[in-house]
Amino acid sequence: VVQSLEGGSDAVCVAVHIRPLVESELADGCQTCLSVCPFSLQVVCKDGPTFTYDYVYGGGGASPDRLYDQCVQPLVVGLFKGYNACCFAYGQTGSGKTYTMGSSAFTATGSARGVIPCVMESIFDRIAATGDAAFTVRVGFVEIFNEEIRDLLSPDQAATAAASPSVHIREVVGGGVCLAGAHEKDVTSKEEMAAILEQGSRCRATASTGMNQRSSRSHAIFTITVEQRRIAPNRAPDQAEGDHSGDDEDGAPDDYLCAKMHLVDLAGSERQKRTKAEGARLKEGININMGLLALGNVVNALTENKAHIPYRDSKLTRMLQDSLGGNSKTTMIACVSPADINLEESTQTLRYANRAR
Ligand code: ADP
Ligand code: MG
Repeated sequence: VVQSLEGGSDAVCVAVHIRPLVESELADGCQTCLSVCPFSLQVVCKDGPTFTYDYVYGGGGASPDRLYDQCVQPLVVGLFKGYNACCFAYGQTGSGKTYTMGSSAFTATGSARGVIPCVMESIFDRIAATGDAAFTVRVGFVEIFNEEIRDLLSPDQAATAAASPSVHIREVVGGGVCLAGAHEKDVTSKEEMAAILEQGSRCRATASTGMNQRSSRSHAIFTITVEQRRIAPNRAPDQAEGDHSGDDEDGAPDDYLCAKMHLVDLAGSERQKRTKAEGARLKEGININMGLLALGNVVNALTENKAHIPYRDSKLTRMLQDSLGGNSKTTMIACVSPADINLEESTQTLRYANRAR
């Protein structure tokens, strides 16, 4: 089924990132089973469906160098205007989610430079270029594992590893969401921010499955909050908005904006039969799929402008509800392997992402 070229909503951008065949796939004699029609933004599965997206990178599509500028930079621009944002990497284990997000490669350059290092740089570049505002930047890092939220920045490692959840979702006045019990750290440079991301990444739960030893079965959510207090000493009376007139003290902020951006490395989307999961591991798998399913349903409801958005169906969507929909901007990056042995999973990922569009 070929979808229309136009369409999709402005609030949700869906991109596909096709990685190259990796060494193990080449060693197994794998062939490429995905092809891209460069001008139509379509991905064709061998002997299967064709799907259309907002952007397609790699595999004969656009250069991944452009991914950040086209798909994520607009979210950073929105962040500085007070709009929340979410950027997700979705795909089976080994498809390139962590590579694409750049959660663990800060020294990489060119197309190997992931989304997160670019976001960090852009935020601090913008702050340096803005003279008339005072900024506070905070970061938080949690994972959702087995429908429990765990703080990856907890100074108490034992508590992080404990089975009992230490973080709770709180709904705050005005429709926002915050995490009670999760640490947030103030940062003043991209280096400091990167160090915190690295610290949290080391705490991430991983356990081996039949498919990939380093398989990640948790959703990792790195959240950057930018607060700005704009100082306009010579503000003309006609620029005053609403009832800010009481804010007259010397140097007092006369404009305040706060917004957050979630950068999410989702759990592997592979179905369980392939990973030979059993018992507790299978239960984890079911919970992971619940979050991914709920996310797909929420994004689909948003793109179709449905009246009811099913945020409450999982911890993932509950936690992100104030950053999905409304004035928030969302980018979904579907990561796929082009190898024929992964055709079934890649087709599933492409279908999921197409439904989100
Ligand atoms: P995931 O996080 O989805 O499990 P990874 O990001 O760990 O997958 O990627 C799996 C392997 O593929 C890694 O060895 C990674 O370096 C490699 N890889 C992923 N994407 C790319 C890419 N775009 N170019 C080159 N190698 C990649
Ligand atoms: Mg990963």
